[in-house]
Amino acid sequence: MSATTLAVTDQIREYLLSVNVREPAVLTRLRDETQRLPAGGMQISPEQGRFMAFLVELLGVRRYLEVGVFTGYSSLSVALAMPPDGRIVACDRSEEWTSVARRYWKEAGVEDKVELRIGDALDSLDALIASGARGTFDFAFVDADKERALDYYDKSLELLRPGGLFGFDNALWSGRVADPKDREPSTLAVRALNQRVSNDSRVSSTLVPIGDGLLLATKR
Ligand code: SAH
Ligand code: CA
Repeated sequence: MSATTLAVTDQIREYLLSVNVREPAVLTRLRDETQRLPAGGMQISPEQGRFMAFLVELLGVRRYLEVGVFTGYSSLSVALAMPPDGRIVACDRSEEWTSVARRYWKEAGVEDKVELRIGDALDSLDALIASGARGTFDFAFVDADKERALDYYDKSLELLRPGGLFGFDNALWSGRVADPKDREPSTLAVRALNQRVSNDSRVSSTLVPIGDGLLLATKR
């Protein structure tokens, strides 16, 4: 019986992974390689990757937009869950990190599904909007610099079709959003987005305490 969300201990998480994740071997290899990088902690968790893949299957996502690719774990999780005609626009400014992603997209045989746009993500989103992609995406997942969360949200909403899904990663920001004493710009920005989305009549939303918090909103 429980009217709350349980605190996931290491033991519980290990159990969760043993029954929850049917992780394809290529994703396991990507996770192992990424964990060896100094910035490896930025990767989403395997249980979150599985959850996003589940959402993609549930919604029949065919057009996926990602802001913040890193070494590719989230995009590859989604690509593997999409039908053969699925298409991904993946935005990141790092050639170095996305070269790892490209290698794994290729290894998994999904490289034809992915269009990688290198550069500042706001510019890439503006370029997409200018090229007439408004209202064409089924799912937009934002996982980049948190200070610009509100901008990414507004532009993603423009690019989503009605009924499309917006996702924002690190919505709990290691718990810092809940600490009123934390006034860091990144914390303020994540807090502002959570508040904005929960009050935004254009969407229906929920903040799921998976990973570091996954904010989900569907465009009405
Ligand atoms: N979703 C990824 C993790 C993303 S980490 C995964 O599942 O592994 C954050 C990424 O955002 C980094 O790769 C970084 O290069 C990118 N990023 C940060 N600020 C950016 C910006 N202004 N424009 C484009 N990419 C940016
Ligand atoms: Ca993240």
